[in-house]
Amino acid sequence: MSDSDKNARHADRMARKKAVIDTAIAHADQEKGLLLVLTGNGKGKSSSAFGMVARALGYGMNVGVAQFIKGRSDTGEEAFFRRQPGVEWHVLGEGFTWDTQDRERDIRKAREGWEVARRMLADPAVNLVILDELTYTLKYGYLDTEQVLADIAARPPMQHVVVTGRGAPQALLDAADTVTELMDVKHAWRAGIKAQPGIDL
Ligand code: ATP
Ligand code: MG
Repeated sequence: MSDSDKNARHADRMARKKAVIDTAIAHADQEKGLLLVLTGNGKGKSSSAFGMVARALGYGMNVGVAQFIKGRSDTGEEAFFRRQPGVEWHVLGEGFTWDTQDRERDIRKAREGWEVARRMLADPAVNLVILDELTYTLKYGYLDTEQVLADIAARPPMQHVVVTGRGAPQALLDAADTVTELMDVKHAWRAGIKAQPGIDL
């Protein structure tokens, strides 16, 4: 095939592709506050959520972050985003399960934490709410999944919510608009490399 034939075929394929994409874009004309879930064993759940925090702040939106932590040290994202206007940042646990080994205390912390999250979910001035590592509180039954889903469903119609954490329960996946499962193909940690500032925390 000559180069000019290849070019003509390429132009033809792209024109058909553009028609399909334009139709899809025209079809997706609704607007609403989204519920997103980032789950799975691969790295990138929390950092993806914080990427959306940066995007939202770029539009001058207000963002609330609630961290339901499993085992935490000070993080770069907290140090950075606390300095930005338009962000409220709540650390709602000091390390769950294997760190604290105190179930009653974890339950108490989770429930107190949910009250903070609920307040943000009830506030139409908060445009994006991040519920980081929330899934563990559901998995261990520290919070009632039905109650959590009801509070999320009752939020202002244009408010976006992002939930992160491994092992998201099916009911949460069912309620979500967008679900991504991050797959663990390889992780440096298994080669004996410790968590690196700027990458892992
Ligand atoms: P990140 O915060 O880097 O986006 P994450 O939110 O997807 O990671 P978590 O399950 O919350 O992952 O774990 C937090 C920490 O564990 C991070 O330091 C991350 O690099 C590390 N981590 C993530 N996935 C794995 C894995 N599959 N094996 C070992 N460590 C991991
Ligand atoms: Mg995480």
